[in-house]
Amino acid sequence: MTDTAHSSSGKSTAVNGIEFDNTRPQERSRTGMSADALRRAISDHLVYSIGRPAAVLTSQHYYMALSLAVRDRMQQRWMATTQDWLDLSNKVTCYLSAEFLMGPQLGNNLLNLGLESEARAALAELGQDLDEIVACEEEPGLGNGGLGRLAACYLDSLATLERPSIGYGIRYEFGIFDQEIREGWQVEKTDNWLVSGNPWEIDKPDASYFVCWGGYTEQYQDIAGRHRVRWIPRRVLQGVSYDTPVQGYGVNTCNTLTLWSARSLKSFELEAFNTGDFYKAVEDEVLSEKVSKVLYPNDEPEAGKRLRLQQQYFFVTCSLQDVIRIHTERVGLPLSALPDKWAIQLNDTHPSIAVAELMRLLIDEHDLSWDEAWDITVATFGYTNHTLLPEALETWSLSLFGDCLPRHLELIYEINDRFLDEVRAAFPGDDDRVRRMSLIGEDGGKSVRMAHLATVGSHFVNGVAALHSELLKDSVLKDFYELWPERFGNVTNGVTPRRFLALSNPGLRQLLDETIGDGWITDLDKLRGLESYVDDPGFRERWRKVKRANKSRLAEYVHSSTGIELDPTWMFDIQVKRIHEYKRQHLNALHIITLYHRLKSNPGLTIPPRAFIFGGKAAPGYYLAKRIIKLITAIGDVVNADPDVNRFMKVVFLPNFNVQNAHLIYPAANLSEQISTAGKEASGTGNMKFMMNGALTIGTLDGANVEIREEAGAENFFLFGLTEDQVESVKSNGYRPMDYIERDPELAAVLELIADGKFTHGDTEILRPVLDSLLHHDPFLVLADYRSYIDCQERVSAAWLDGDTWARMSILNSARSGKFSSDRAIAEYCDEIWNVSPMNVDL
Ligand SMILES: *Cc1c(COP(=O)(O)O)cnc(C)c1O
Repeated sequence: MTDTAHSSSGKSTAVNGIEFDNTRPQERSRTGMSADALRRAISDHLVYSIGRPAAVLTSQHYYMALSLAVRDRMQQRWMATTQDWLDLSNKVTCYLSAEFLMGPQLGNNLLNLGLESEARAALAELGQDLDEIVACEEEPGLGNGGLGRLAACYLDSLATLERPSIGYGIRYEFGIFDQEIREGWQVEKTDNWLVSGNPWEIDKPDASYFVCWGGYTEQYQDIAGRHRVRWIPRRVLQGVSYDTPVQGYGVNTCNTLTLWSARSLKSFELEAFNTGDFYKAVEDEVLSEKVSKVLYPNDEPEAGKRLRLQQQYFFVTCSLQDVIRIHTERVGLPLSALPDKWAIQLNDTHPSIAVAELMRLLIDEHDLSWDEAWDITVATFGYTNHTLLPEALETWSLSLFGDCLPRHLELIYEINDRFLDEVRAAFPGDDDRVRRMSLIGEDGGKSVRMAHLATVGSHFVNGVAALHSELLKDSVLKDFYELWPERFGNVTNGVTPRRFLALSNPGLRQLLDETIGDGWITDLDKLRGLESYVDDPGFRERWRKVKRANKSRLAEYVHSSTGIELDPTWMFDIQVKRIHEYKRQHLNALHIITLYHRLKSNPGLTIPPRAFIFGGKAAPGYYLAKRIIKLITAIGDVVNADPDVNRFMKVVFLPNFNVQNAHLIYPAANLSEQISTAGKEASGTGNMKFMMNGALTIGTLDGANVEIREEAGAENFFLFGLTEDQVESVKSNGYRPMDYIERDPELAAVLELIADGKFTHGDTEILRPVLDSLLHHDPFLVLADYRSYIDCQERVSAAWLDGDTWARMSILNSARSGKFSSDRAIAEYCDEIWNVSPMNVDL
């Protein structure tokens, strides 16, 4: 920890001309970093911000007061950071993402400010317990899973690495649904996260922008006689910004997350717009605010199509208008300098309409020529691809797109014409290639291909793990790679060690600090220092004690949320992630049934006891994923109640997997299940969180598993399954699930237990869809990997029996997880794609 974050001993400082008096002993209660100043700040906020008399104060009130006090301290750093990059011409990263899965803020902000013990002491003086107060926070679930959480980890690393940055996204009024499990089925509940207020955000109604929608375009000549186009929208609404500070760890840098909320326009404001149908526009006012109402679940191709496009355009245009306003009005630079001052990253194709929108703003609103505008656009954007799954590649039907964004469709046609000329020049006579690369897809009704738009409009394209980036060049973006090989690269994902180690595993944090010092928090490669302790029995014992305590902590949580009791001496075998066929939770389930079957048919058998723990949400419209949850809970009901087997195994489905309970889950794992079909998981980040916390991985050669195995050493990783090549060849030869069943009597018996209704009180219908998928239409080859998986699990069990060996492997996994810090990933983005350097902030 550098002492700049704790400059409480400093003198008075000025930010924006405002004096901050930091002198001791009576520190300012808005900014002082001592426990005493914090206590005064909390008391002040209870009176002046919360306004409740002492007699009625609840933990929630203390949560609000402490959070506001913490935000005050960030505010000073936030203003200094912003002022600095406005003054000095530092380049700023904008991370455009439809999702930011930030997780609870209070604990993380205390950690990053170095205020944990001060906050604990301050609350204790007020008769409150910090852990209880921290637990009051409703987490902002503004993301579905890995992609949104990655964006949040990247904001933490950008701030910690002192890189000026703004995250831009949507302030969904309702985030990802809350999941309940009733009678074994997923039930969705609205996530009303704003209901008790959000102390972290500051709304800035002065930073608001108009957002046009629908209508038509008109050509005209401007006074200089130039040919111009204007967009006559059918509707106009407004985006208002809500800013949340993002505090770096141990530094003064405090960056910004700007989330846009939709507002309808007042009638008088509408007059400023030459809308095609004034009265219709006014009637539509009510509809406008729907735009930022709710986060859509992924894995639902048809859900809310039009509104989703509107959400994407809404946050993209607000963000780009904001960048241009800051650039021209606050920084005072010409638009030609945009790429020198801003690096804008597109997190998947969700914000890729930005390519056409920046062109529109530069040409229609700021009078630039096509060529000037295009050079700026390509130099400014970078695009991160997150998936190879064809069904997840975003396209919009041409008619829908043209109806919603008529001007953008014209611009996309023009971009496409010029681009395809370039393709024809590079590959003369290759008409098929031209058709494949077009921004407009012709197969099955015309559509706009957003991945193509993002690729053509960016100077760099990256995948999220080495294997994924290679496959990208070889499959969905192959033609583009052949045209522009220099534009393609890889940045393997990472996760922040602040949240996923220091904050969520305090026991391990303390052991690490005592063993190798605390430098690992900002330099995770320092964990390598643990390798010299693997042969130290005393250290191994302490290591195991930490894991045991984390397992007890999770067991308590499992008991309180499901009623199931777990023995913390058992192996905790955990698979938490979105429920999806490609992630293959059903393969894990087949292993559990296999053990159940063995124990039932062989009463003398003993096996090393395991707790199988699952968590994850299924998209509400993803029928099969919901049946897979039912499969798991049904197995759990039978296994947990059967004394023949529950001495050796228990099965838990933890409801509502989110960032908050992830803090309890990853640190408690002995075994991390990363069992996707090879070639389908772009990277995974859960795999990294498990590894850092000392879990061993059982996994396929997929996504970042490949690199995890390389780093950990093959001998410290449980590998099984077909490789990506083998998957492709099985598929091209025609995958026949029955072949595997005929060859494997145990597999046949396992499937029969499901078919006979063994886990569903004799009902043979409930789980039939899962069986049908496994037997007849399974693109993810579950049965092809079954035997390899079961055999590998035998090796896992054998290794578990030798506690010392397991502890050694666990330590080595943690010790070698440095590569998977988001600090490494962000440093790569900054050096190779964004060209953004550190900016030290002084208070
Ligand atoms: C890390 C994380 C994910 C991503 O998990 P994967 O195993 O990489 O799919 C999803 N949800 C939450 C809450 C996470 O913390």
